[in-house]
Amino acid sequence: MQYSDSNLDATNLDPDDWASFSTLAHTMLDDMLEYLQTVRDRPVWSPLTDKMKKTVREPLPQHPQNREEIYQMFKNNVLPYPPGNIHPRFWGWVNGAGSPFGMLAELAAAAMNSNNGGRDHMPKYVEEEVINWAKQLMGFPQTSSGILTSGCSEANLIGLTIARNVKAGVDVREVGLQQVPQQLRIYTSTAMHSSIQKACEVIGLGNAALQRIPITDTYQINLTALTAAINNDRENGLLPIAVVANVGTVNTGAIDPLEKIAKLCQQENLWLHVDGAFGAMTAISSRYSRLVKGLELADSLAFDFHKWMSIPFAVGCLLVKNEQDHFNSFNLRPSYLSEATRGLAAGGRWPTDYGIQLSKGFSALKIWFMLKENGVENYDRVVTKNILQAQYFAKLIEQDEFIELLAPVALNVVCFRFTHPQLQDLNAFNQELVIRIQESGIAVPSSVMLGDIFSLRIAITNHRSTFADFDIFYNIILKLGIDLLQQINKTL
Ligand SMILES: *Cc1c(COP(=O)(O)O)cnc(C)c1O
Repeated sequence: MQYSDSNLDATNLDPDDWASFSTLAHTMLDDMLEYLQTVRDRPVWSPLTDKMKKTVREPLPQHPQNREEIYQMFKNNVLPYPPGNIHPRFWGWVNGAGSPFGMLAELAAAAMNSNNGGRDHMPKYVEEEVINWAKQLMGFPQTSSGILTSGCSEANLIGLTIARNVKAGVDVREVGLQQVPQQLRIYTSTAMHSSIQKACEVIGLGNAALQRIPITDTYQINLTALTAAINNDRENGLLPIAVVANVGTVNTGAIDPLEKIAKLCQQENLWLHVDGAFGAMTAISSRYSRLVKGLELADSLAFDFHKWMSIPFAVGCLLVKNEQDHFNSFNLRPSYLSEATRGLAAGGRWPTDYGIQLSKGFSALKIWFMLKENGVENYDRVVTKNILQAQYFAKLIEQDEFIELLAPVALNVVCFRFTHPQLQDLNAFNQELVIRIQESGIAVPSSVMLGDIFSLRIAITNHRSTFADFDIFYNIILKLGIDLLQQINKTL
């Protein structure tokens, strides 16, 4: 590449022609708004051909390309093929549906391009306020601390790091786990989320340190077994340090008995961490908040803003009851980051003092925008609606002769399968069925194994879903189920 130093001064990454840039910007904004307004008219998800996947393969761009053409490429080849979670009939895994005002917040946050790791500027104070609001939502005292994270996986990781550091009995930050006299143990149920295992692996405890306690027939942790495991481990010279309670298990939406677990943790001097990725949001429902009574008893509580709150991806949160414990686990300021009383390096404690990231986006702004836009009131309605929709759908299938409910509906998750006396291998049949439903573009459920049983599963964290959407879903399950049954009968 040829250039002379003399023309470098005029080079930057901004547009040369702001007027034509503005035209493109407005076109894009209009397109995105229309895209969101018409989401219901498109398939939830469309399978991709290899040819489509190749449309984004190209050599590393060496030369500047035309912005209009870049945008057209995106509009033609990427935008029409989303993962589907903004659609009203997407209930796979656990996702969030996003929001138009959240999108605008992303635009504004990107314009400021604020590094929210620290320093003294308004975005930092917006973040502090959002965390204060989160404390109020979850019943945590204002003296507790919090951190916005990339999601609940990171929030679980930070929470368990603090638990380990507080309870290990040695200065783990200094000596690691090399000098821990007793092996550490963490307890959770077999219905835990995989991010709890990952956290145990990452913080050096290892998967084997995570004791999976059996669940009851309501998919909640078996307290008798939990108590027995703790006692047994103590007798064998191990050191129990924490219990992870699941509030809204990913498989069935079950909620562990928080108050009883909290009492046990207090008796046993164990850290109580709650994984409430989506379930913690039940606290916002005036009708159902009783289901998650005791959230405020946690030493640390992890949850997501990007799931049930529909804040655009990706943002989660960890709240910690004892601010000093939180700070002690993560504060680390070399001289170039040292705190000042005046100037830009002021601002007291920074987000980086409470987490892993130094540089950090302004994800607080989309929460700030959307909580103000909707108030607790609208969120109360959405969460309550989704829970009622789960009950509605469960009723629909319970009265159907071909569809079987597979787990109690504790919250917003429904597990079910298609059955028929002629079918030999129900697991294989339902595996094919879930794919066919997804490929139909009409709805997106996902699946889970409940013991040996392959289950279709929906997790309803979608503000756009209507009750009628569940009628449509029910009909397509029946239609595709019966089609598949006939196809199998023909080949027999
Ligand atoms: C989604 C989920 C997580 C992980 O959260 P991410 O935001 O995807 O990192 C953890 N626990 C439960 C119960 C979840 O549903």
